[in-house]
Amino acid sequence: MRNDDLKKIETEVNKIKMIDTHEHLQKEKNRIRSKADPFKLFMSQYLSSDLISSGMSYEELQKLNDEKISLSNRWDIFSLFWNNVQNTAYAKSVLIAIKDLYGIEKLDKRTIAELARKMEEMNKQGLYRWILKEKAGIEIALHDTILKPRGYDFWNAMPISKIIEVDRSLFVPVHRFQDFIFVTERTDLDFLSKRLNVSIHSLNDLLNAFKMEFEKISSKLYAVKIWIAYRRNIFFDKVTYSEAEKAFNEIFRQQSFKRMDVEGMRLTFPESISFEIAKPLQDYMVHELIRLSIRYKLPLQIHTGIHEGNENMVSNSNPLYLTNLFVEYKEAQFDIFHAGYPFLDETAALVKNFPNVYVDLCWLHIISPSIAKRVIYEWLDLIPSNKIMGFGGDYLFVEGSYGHSVIARQNITSVLQKKIEERSMKFEEANKIAKKILRENALNLFFKEKPVHQS
Ligand SMILES: [Zn+2]
Repeated sequence: MRNDDLKKIETEVNKIKMIDTHEHLQKEKNRIRSKADPFKLFMSQYLSSDLISSGMSYEELQKLNDEKISLSNRWDIFSLFWNNVQNTAYAKSVLIAIKDLYGIEKLDKRTIAELARKMEEMNKQGLYRWILKEKAGIEIALHDTILKPRGYDFWNAMPISKIIEVDRSLFVPVHRFQDFIFVTERTDLDFLSKRLNVSIHSLNDLLNAFKMEFEKISSKLYAVKIWIAYRRNIFFDKVTYSEAEKAFNEIFRQQSFKRMDVEGMRLTFPESISFEIAKPLQDYMVHELIRLSIRYKLPLQIHTGIHEGNENMVSNSNPLYLTNLFVEYKEAQFDIFHAGYPFLDETAALVKNFPNVYVDLCWLHIISPSIAKRVIYEWLDLIPSNKIMGFGGDYLFVEGSYGHSVIARQNITSVLQKKIEERSMKFEEANKIAKKILRENALNLFFKEKPVHQS
């Protein structure tokens, strides 16, 4: 009987149409416009970080991305390090994808060319629908629309409606509002002024511009993302308006300048203010961001824990730093990303404690499947089951989202089978929990006010 239940739970988990809480995929039309180069795509994140960690140099990584170098020459560089990284889940996720999607069983000098051919064959309109809907069983994904670093291109500001545009049959948009928080120099303000067609000369002007943009797009958004842990510590102090205003005014008092080449022109720009000076302004703007999220009923997705890439400051992103926000903003809903890894126990304690705090396992299944299994197993004893978001692909390339989805389903199946085997859960309960953590919890958190699909 119990063996039947083990098989049954696997079947049920595989049937769930998942709500993917977090992706960064480039637009399909951009993906299919260029050649599907396996190195260029698969080295855009994660696996490349493991390669660097294993000893590859940045020059070698750059060569892997250079399409002018033949696949076989790039394989020769890659193969020096592949042996060291193919044990990690970042590699396994790619291996699962190329096997299931393109029929490539093993990656080597011969099959890399075959993989490139097969990827190119499928690199056409409908690629995302095929992989995300048909293969990965994802009903819809929350899409974190990354605002490209603008450089000094402030005379070509892209309209915000374009920035948050997604294919609504597959995605819903999440936005960061980062350009209102990281204001450190006059050109940042020029850029915002240009985009919003307002002039910004005081903190009050900046706040009005922020509200204006928030109001303009809030009905299209499904969540707000806070990504700041990549750039600074995530303790956002309670500061006064006048402290923030003082920092703001420093931007206009800057007396040193930089000379830069911009599209062939030599231009002069005021320097940025330092982080120490800017911090109160940033803290104030984050509190304002939360207040606006409450007003427009948008959950907040917050990056905590490990950072993608290499040589980051992981101590900056302990979710315990956010506790003052959880205490102050009871009406807000905080979705804590990446399970806070490596601060797993800290995250669990916060989610157990605060009614307004949820945990999101996005990225975690490929950081380490065994850690993901361990925490899901433990957290099902610890945290109410409506507060766990079980899957977010968190990939830049769509094959990765697929590989990750397979690992996530395996992990959740295996934990629930263990619970059934040791008789701490019956099949029916395990089945209900699977549906909640892979689908219903995310529907309740992000789609309460808005439709999943646009008619
Ligand atoms: Zn992400």
